[in-house]
Order: sequence, then C-alpha cells, then structure tokens
Amino acid sequence: MMNPIRMVDLVTQYGNIQEEIDAAVLGVMKSAAFINGPEVTAFQQNLEKYLGVKHVIPCANGTDALQVSMMALELKPGDEVITTSFTFIATAEVIALLGLTPVVVDVDPDTFNIDPNAIRRAITPKTKAIVPVHLFGQCADMEEIQKIADEFGLFVIEDACQSIGADYIFKDGSRKKSGTISNIGCTSFFPSKNLGCFGDGGAIFTNDDSLAEACRSIANHGMVVRYYHDRVGVNSRLDSIQAAILRVKLKYLDNYISNRQNAARAYNEAFADFPQLQTPQESAFSTHVFHQYTLLTTGFDRNKLQEYLAVKDVPSMIYYPVPMHLQKAYTDPRYKDGDFPITESLSKSVISLPMHTELSPDQIDHITQSVIAFIKSNF
Ligand SMILES: *Cc1c(COP(=O)(O)O)cnc(C)c1O
Repeated sequence: MMNPIRMVDLVTQYGNIQEEIDAAVLGVMKSAAFINGPEVTAFQQNLEKYLGVKHVIPCANGTDALQVSMMALELKPGDEVITTSFTFIATAEVIALLGLTPVVVDVDPDTFNIDPNAIRRAITPKTKAIVPVHLFGQCADMEEIQKIADEFGLFVIEDACQSIGADYIFKDGSRKKSGTISNIGCTSFFPSKNLGCFGDGGAIFTNDDSLAEACRSIANHGMVVRYYHDRVGVNSRLDSIQAAILRVKLKYLDNYISNRQNAARAYNEAFADFPQLQTPQESAFSTHVFHQYTLLTTGFDRNKLQEYLAVKDVPSMIYYPVPMHLQKAYTDPRYKDGDFPITESLSKSVISLPMHTELSPDQIDHITQSVIAFIKSNF
C-alpha cells in the first residue's frame, strides 16, 4: 500500500535517521548544555565548512536572521530597502518592524525571482539595501544584483531561507553557495525547510569579520563582554537540541537535495506534453534545490485543480496567494492593485505540488496521473 502523500513528509524522514537523531538529542539532555553548548559550536563549524563561508551565526529563526542582519548593517528609520512582493511575508515584515521603508518590485516571470531591471528603476537617494529572495530553492540573478549594489553603494542581504545548498554559478564558472554571495545571508531551519530542525532555528552567513561580530552581539542582547551592553540587541539563539539535530541532518543535505531534484525531474517529464502547465524554469546561473515544486498554470482555474487533487488525496499549496503589497497589514498609498502585473498574475495561477525527500515512485505516479487526468478532462 502507498503511504499517504504529504506536502512534506517529516515523519518518514525522521524514521529513516531515527537512531542517530535520538542519540544526538539524548546526548544534549544528559549534558544539560541546553544553550550555547558544544553542539551549537560544532554545528556552526560544520555549516561554515559546508557553505565555504567564514562565519555562521546561529539564531532563533529565519525572521530573526533577517532582522539581526538589518540591525547589524545599521539601517535607520526612513532608509529604503528594495525587495520582492512575491515572497513569504517575513522578508517585508522585519523591514517594516525596524521602521525602514519596504520598496517592492516585480519579479522575473520564469524564475519568479526579483527582476534586476526593476530594482534599478526603484532606486532613490534613500535606498540603502536590496533583499533578494532565492525563491523556491533557486538563486536570484546575484551577479547582476551585486553590480547594481556596487554601482549605487547598497548592501545586499540574501534571503536564503528556501535555498540552502543551492549553488550560484558565476559567468566565469566559479560557484558559491546561496546566502554566501553578498554582504550577508539569512536562512531558516523551520522544520519544513530543506535543512529543518525539530522546532524553530535560523542562521546568518557572512565573510565580513566586523559584521559577524555585530550580528553575534545583537543576537545576544547587544553584549560583547557579559553584562556590558554596547548596543540594543535581541535574544535570538539556536538551542543545543536543535543544533544537535541539524548537525545530523546536515550530513544528509546533499542527499536530500538530490532526492528533491529527482522528484522534480519525474514531475517535469510527466508534464512535458501539457502546454497548460509550465514546469519550473531553471536559470543558467543557479542550481535548483526545489524547496517547492511550483507549476505555473494557464487556461484554467488552478483552484479547481487544487479541489480535484484534494479528492484524490493529493495535497497542494498556493505559495503565495496574496502579494505583499496587497496584504492588509502592508497597505500603502504608494501601491495599488495592478502595480506589479507579473507578481499579481503569478499569485493567481501558481500551484505547488508535494515536494520532499521521501517521495516514492508510486506516490509521484499517483500525483502526476491525478494532475494529468484533471487537465485531460478540461481540454
Ligand atoms: C521561512 C521563510 C522565512 C522565515 O523563516 P522562519 O524561520 O519561519 O522565521 C523568511 N523568508 C522566507 C523566504 C522564508 O521562506
């Protein structure tokens, strides 16, 4: 019998590495080094090595990673930060929380990532930083974005919450891991992310020594020397149990990525003959780690497909149904419906299929056959 299909199957994934995870967690409990213990340092060092980056600063979640980064860059109220409207809200949320001004721009219609030309057009004398999001597991056009940043003296903060392990491929053929390309990168270890823990977690990446020191201090109440507070900080830590789990799972990350890529390839092949379904477009400058497998539909109502799949016990999700600039909390007289046509059209026509490290061939068959049956019955 086929296992039930889930968007993300963390139950089966845990089962496959249970002994190692259980031993790692028990080890922390026996040591009682719950905060900033040796497991945190060991995971941090292993991740630095994996990413080829000088500093990894673990913190409590991906949202905090973004906030601490912006605080470390000393962005000030009124500074404009350019980002994409087609993302998870956390990106814009921290910009707004810090009193900075989020300036959103449209995306590339094929990769769904921020459009460098649109960034260029949005720059004003108040612009201080760009936050590209490597959406669904594929890097934004970083070489072009960095060129714009250099030209205008802007910081670049990569939101790599969905892309850990993805390679950016430069024009000269050299590679860097996503999140390590610009001034500072942020990731999330939320359970469903590609490297997920068993609760909340996150990290900041940088090659800049003084930025790293600032981030470490801000994430720890603004302290450098204990009980001497040089700046206003926050309390944002990765706890040792999560670090111990992540240290085990990091060993499997490349395997997990290739499982996702194999599932994506099977989907792509199954959908190749259906013009109503545009499969994920992979850019020449990035590998794709398929945090999500997202179809762009044309000529039919994707909500009807979602309903049809639900009846077949195939879960699906809409990432994201409402762009940031049309969210109630972010209503802004500068923006109205129609301002970002590509983002708005994507939010009405994308659908994400189950994507995880444990999808079996029979599950993939059932999913693709269900999608195809819907298409055939409508055309
Ligand atoms: C998940 C995610 C975040 C936030 O991470 P948390 O750990 O949930 O705070 C930020 N940006 C993007 C693009 C994400 O996918």
